Amino acid sequence: GLPASLTAMLRASVDRNPDGEALVEVVGPRLTYQQLWDRAARVAGGLVAAGVGRGDRVANLLPAGVDWVLGFLGTQLAGAVAVPVNTRFAPPEVDHVLTDSGAASVLRVGEPLPDGEPFVAENQQPGDLAAIFYTSGTTGSPKGAMTSHENFLSNVETAIRVIGVNRAEGSTTRNLVSVPLFHVTGCNSQLLVQLALAGTTVVLPTFTVTAFLRTLVQERIDTLVSVPAIYALALAHSDLATVDVGAVRQLTYGGAPIAPALVRRLQDTFPAASVGNGFGLTETASIATFLPHDWAADHADSVGFAAPVVDLALEAVDPDTGVGELLVRGPNVVLGYWNNPDATAAAFDHGWLHTGDLARVEDGLVHVVDRAKDIINRGGENVYSVEVENALAGAPGVADAAVVAVPDDVMGEKVGAVIVTAAGTPFDAEVVVDYLRERLAEFKVPQFFHVRTDPLPRNAGGKILKRTLRDTTPWGPPVHGR
Ligand code: ATP
Repeated sequence: GLPASLTAMLRASVDRNPDGEALVEVVGPRLTYQQLWDRAARVAGGLVAAGVGRGDRVANLLPAGVDWVLGFLGTQLAGAVAVPVNTRFAPPEVDHVLTDSGAASVLRVGEPLPDGEPFVAENQQPGDLAAIFYTSGTTGSPKGAMTSHENFLSNVETAIRVIGVNRAEGSTTRNLVSVPLFHVTGCNSQLLVQLALAGTTVVLPTFTVTAFLRTLVQERIDTLVSVPAIYALALAHSDLATVDVGAVRQLTYGGAPIAPALVRRLQDTFPAASVGNGFGLTETASIATFLPHDWAADHADSVGFAAPVVDLALEAVDPDTGVGELLVRGPNVVLGYWNNPDATAAAFDHGWLHTGDLARVEDGLVHVVDRAKDIINRGGENVYSVEVENALAGAPGVADAAVVAVPDDVMGEKVGAVIVTAAGTPFDAEVVVDYLRERLAEFKVPQFFHVRTDPLPRNAGGKILKRTLRDTTPWGPPVHGR
């Protein structure tokens, strides 16, 4: 059975492995499980002494590292509600989160963590609110996903079951967190999973490929979970040739669409690793579906099967394509949006979460074809931006690509591609159009190309900011007519 709360989960690991290494900040402190517990209990005591009560919100504005984790866990031990704040938010966005959540306490850089007599709340219940994660707002203003202890714990159980614990006898897993802790991939599917396994979480406060690769070796990392954008950077870096990545046994990617071409390169680069694709949302407390290793090679375009505890459904299915909106139900689906009954009513229906993702299901394998808001409607014909991006991923001279709608008086929308060119290989739109014509129907082949040298704008979770690209790309004339 699941523990009743994150507090109970952590306590069990402290009892099992008090001297085991719990938390490492790269070029920073290292804590055993006992030290982690003792310090988190002092943070809880400090919060309580400052007047933070059961269910009060504690905003966490700290950068990724040991203090972030102590702030999060101290909040749990206090029986309060953690509000992880995106450190990339602009001041007005931070203000929105602090006001909307009604934060009773704010953990900030430059201020010492709360400190007081050790305190551990009693009688925490699975249904109690444990955290509010504000979605990064790629589709609107940030909404606070109300995540209960049960939501967290059911995701932990799912992650352990689907990702598996592939490790040497008697050892514990060592996981490198290279994505933000304020998003569910880093917090729910890495930190909390390792805490449940009494394994080690190594946090890389500032991501650079060099530091990422160096840490893999120095910290003997065997478990990786990250977003496609980070893996793509690592695979493109010359340092990769100089490091031995043979210790990595688990490699999970997810959080954003991944091109099958990148999956194949990951498998070639990490031959000792079991690779898998995790799909989920803030609102599913991380994992909703998972593509296990044995399927990843032949079905790289799929996000896999429903997580063990999850029910899936498709709504408003197009009879021709089988594509409909993906709905998810299960103990990991969050309680709703904080302080936002309208948004809650729009997204949650009798326990079913509307994901906003369009998908089809074949033999139980889920294929997410696009986010509903990113589809391009070209004169009534649907073009899935992700499909075109996947084709572009292998095109000559293309290092990275985003496909978005270009407004058109006649067709409504046409297909545009923003291209980041690869070093060394020239980019020629005509050549790329020919390349795409061999792989895609004519109506899907972008007519507009915009080449940029800067990386694509991405949020902290690695997702391309398509709204920004739609609003700001200075398109030139079309490169072909149809
Ligand atoms: P907002 O919901 O405000 O736009 P966001 O995009 O950051 O913010 P998240 O909850 O972090 O919200 O992202 C969830 C979305 O990420 C999913 O709906 C899906 O579109 C995409 N996604 C997550 N995992 C995968 C995956 N493995 N493959 C493809 N897409 C994925």
